[in-house]
Amino acid sequence: MSGRVLDADVAIVGAGAAGLCLAHRLACPPPGLAPPGLVLLQAPEGPLRAPPRTWCFWEAGAGRFEEAVSASWGRLRVHDPRGAATVARVAPLRYKMIRSADLEALVARELAARPGAYACEAAVHAVRDVPGGAEVHARAGDGSPLLVRARWVFDSRPPRELPAARTTLLQHFHGWFLRSRRPAFDPDTVELMDFRAPPPPHGLAFGYVLPTGERTALAEYTVFSAARLPRSAYAHALRRYLREVLGLGEVLVTGEESGVIPMTDGRFAGRAGAAVFRIGTAGGATRPATGYTFAAVQRQTRALAAAVHAGRKPRLRAPHHARARVMDAVVLRALAAGRVEGAELFPRLFCRVPAERLLRFLDGRTTAREDLAVGLRMPLLPMLRTAAELPRLPRRPPAGPWPPPAPADPPPADPPTANPPTADQLPADDLPAGPAPAAPGEGAP
Ligand SMILES: Cc1cc2nc3c(=O)[nH]c(=O)nc-3n(C[C@H](O)[C@H](O)[C@H](O)COP(=O)(O)OP(=O)(O)OC[C@H]3O[C@@H](n4cnc5c(N)ncnc54)[C@H](O)[C@@H]3O)c2cc1C
Repeated sequence: MSGRVLDADVAIVGAGAAGLCLAHRLACPPPGLAPPGLVLLQAPEGPLRAPPRTWCFWEAGAGRFEEAVSASWGRLRVHDPRGAATVARVAPLRYKMIRSADLEALVARELAARPGAYACEAAVHAVRDVPGGAEVHARAGDGSPLLVRARWVFDSRPPRELPAARTTLLQHFHGWFLRSRRPAFDPDTVELMDFRAPPPPHGLAFGYVLPTGERTALAEYTVFSAARLPRSAYAHALRRYLREVLGLGEVLVTGEESGVIPMTDGRFAGRAGAAVFRIGTAGGATRPATGYTFAAVQRQTRALAAAVHAGRKPRLRAPHHARARVMDAVVLRALAAGRVEGAELFPRLFCRVPAERLLRFLDGRTTAREDLAVGLRMPLLPMLRTAAELPRLPRRPPAGPWPPPAPADPPPADPPTANPPTADQLPADDLPAGPAPAAPGEGAP
């Protein structure tokens, strides 16, 4: 093959949450350990590059990526559909937000400071085992062939399809970074699930509001259901939520974020070869019943980096332990079968389980006794019935490719105006999105 050839101990394919966190952990080992030779392959600008996004998670104290944390909160609030609110302090934890661009910049700085670490833009088209390691075949940003030979390859490219499962739902959402004219947000309180949001045609929906100041926030309309909505439906529901529920008048939209996250009890194959491992969502790190992934990515990348630093063969453990997987499978099934109302279940859990314990539960860090206590706070009969039927349900392959395409928008009712007014002249129900990330609507991994 003509073109460039790179040799490294480790190659990481994809520079999203998993690729970046693993690169950082490998390049910055604990004192006394040497970093491996490392190549991080990031998709060039274009359809393979994941659009910018925000990652939220929770932890106590300052964490490894603190420098990239752009906001954090001490309280979470959940509203049930009738408007009853539960507000909970999460101390000693804090709910934190990292923007992907900030994590990219942090990791780029660390890699630039390590002689054995190298990041490059390349579209990977094949990863395969070879004797003594694996090869990554790619096209560099200028179109020339690139071959990376490594002892271990960690591949975070999104799966082409989801695994066979008893239940597959989607978590799909659209959000705006916005500025309101008057103070409208409590900067220390996240609106985690607001079920006063307009209901979708199928499934359940809630508002999710991350205030970054008294007048600024990321506000999202999130749906759990079997299929995506046309793009305009999210914007329409979000406008209604902001206006009718939050009582916001005019807002300026300065950015947007969209996504679709798998919620499945299917088993992702972590191993793709003797020297090739899948990480991140592709490696099963997404928590089936919530879509949260970032925390499991930390557990996964911490363990892999420790093995590489110690010169051991990496082992990919299940990102979520067996009890958590079973409980999530029951919740997913009960939601999909309509046996429990998500809009009642989640506020009920939040109201009856201390928030700090609930967050530890979602991270899989609760004891069996605590898990049982959480389970007992759920509607028992429908959950027990669902648990009993689960072993008899077949695991079916998913209906189509991943990510599922969004349905087309209906044609606009009015022709577009020649000279539309600027965003800050518009009332909330007319607001366009501001500077948009690449490929809006396709935030999916
Ligand atoms: C908009 C959005 C917001 C989210 N927010 C949260 C949150 O707040 N908290 C949370 O826990 N989870 C969140 N998630 C879920 C999950 O954390 C993210 O999807 C996360 O980005 C998954 O990390 P990943 O590394 O597995 O995949 P990605 O971050 O999608 O990374 C995959 C990488 O592979 C690259 N790639 C793809 N194909 C190729 C190729 N052929 N060659 C080279 N590179 C390639 C992509 O460009 C991308 O950078 C969110 C998901 C989305 C979509």
